[in-house]
Amino acid sequence: MNEGPIRFCSTRDSALQTTLDEALQRGIAPDGGLYVPTRLPRFDPERFDPAISLAECARDVLAPFFAGSRLAAALDLICRDAFSPPAPVVALDPEQQLYTLELWHGPTAAFKDFAARFLAGCMAGLRRPSDPLRTILVATSGDTGAAVAAAFHRRPGVRVVILYPDGRVSGRQAHQLGAFGNNVHALRVAGNFDDCQHLVKTLLADPRAQARWGLSSANSISIGRLLPQIVYYALASIRLARLSARPGPFDVIVPTGNLGNALACILARELGFRIGTVYLATNANRTLPEFFDGGEYVGRPGLQTLANAMDVGDPSNFERLAWFYRDRDLRRAGIRAAAFDDARIRTGIRHAFRAWGKPLCPHSACALEYARELRSQGHDAPLLLVETAHPAKFETVVEPLIERAVEVPTALADLLRRPSRADLLAPRLEALLDALQRLDAA
Ligand SMILES: *Cc1c(COP(=O)(O)O)cnc(C)c1O
Repeated sequence: MNEGPIRFCSTRDSALQTTLDEALQRGIAPDGGLYVPTRLPRFDPERFDPAISLAECARDVLAPFFAGSRLAAALDLICRDAFSPPAPVVALDPEQQLYTLELWHGPTAAFKDFAARFLAGCMAGLRRPSDPLRTILVATSGDTGAAVAAAFHRRPGVRVVILYPDGRVSGRQAHQLGAFGNNVHALRVAGNFDDCQHLVKTLLADPRAQARWGLSSANSISIGRLLPQIVYYALASIRLARLSARPGPFDVIVPTGNLGNALACILARELGFRIGTVYLATNANRTLPEFFDGGEYVGRPGLQTLANAMDVGDPSNFERLAWFYRDRDLRRAGIRAAAFDDARIRTGIRHAFRAWGKPLCPHSACALEYARELRSQGHDAPLLLVETAHPAKFETVVEPLIERAVEVPTALADLLRRPSRADLLAPRLEALLDALQRLDAA
């Protein structure tokens, strides 16, 4: 049956449909919902060569979503660019059947590099030469801003303005955000993350500012960030079938905040890849564990923890997850969740280093603690833990616990050697407007 290209609709209205290209450019549906594909392709994992590269796997898995897109012909190139860093599956403890998926080999040492680079490639491909300059506004508590900056750095026709809370990101994160230069501008806001986010949202909602600066966000709710994240789960499941003595579906533990990365893992399973239960490891923010334990979904403000990229109390992608399972019981969907407070995060970091000499970032430590909990409850099937960032980005947490310095990956070290600059910004809209006007004049 020829069903034609996959269409994309709003989570709030299945009749509000559009093409992939428009969904990519709009970011969010006109009714405020999130874009989702109206149907999913199915794959036979047997037909993938385990020796295939990540970029080739990306092209094959994403091709059905890009059928009919203006980007279809460029997809291969976009994938080769976004998926040039590897996403290796490493045997952490072969005897215990514990494996990790290292997603931090990209330029800013966190998994967001893959999707941010993919989205930047799509936006560059959709851009017409006559299009006016676009300004991408990002509020960040650290990782997102760096990944978006690296992805759009030096691309023509676009500039990036990053707002981060002054003094509330790690020293290395702050240095990284200000080190790009060129078309990337960092502003350190005298306030907290909510102030940054509020400024960005207010300006994005202002039609005059929109028109003047061609504003857009590169926010994690873009469908252009969700789709590419499916790829590394697909390939990991294929490669694990080779590594492990027990081939079959693999249970995966994903450190989770806004549920973007974990939703991609769940979608990889829906596409036919051999993934078993998906375990969501959260920090002290308990919204998801409470729901999957049978409670109500109650969104709330995020609590501050050592795993700060997951300080989320109302995960934005929950709306998408609920949409995909609208005809089925989400609590019977092979998804479990558990929360790990700062004490458990510290325990996990110490344990990984003592047992395997492996420093873990605070987010990845939540996944390890979940694995240890499952093992203590008698779970004995192979487990794949996802490492979302390199520990060198969180050295102030990790180094005192393992009592030595964490080696810094080359790409990150290169950035940290560059000079860094960020202007101070008062947490007021007029101050942000002034800053944008100064950029225009420069
Ligand atoms: C963003 C981030 C997360 C959370 O990912 P979500 O897709 O929001 O669930 C986890 N760990 C690190 C290091 C991150 O940067």
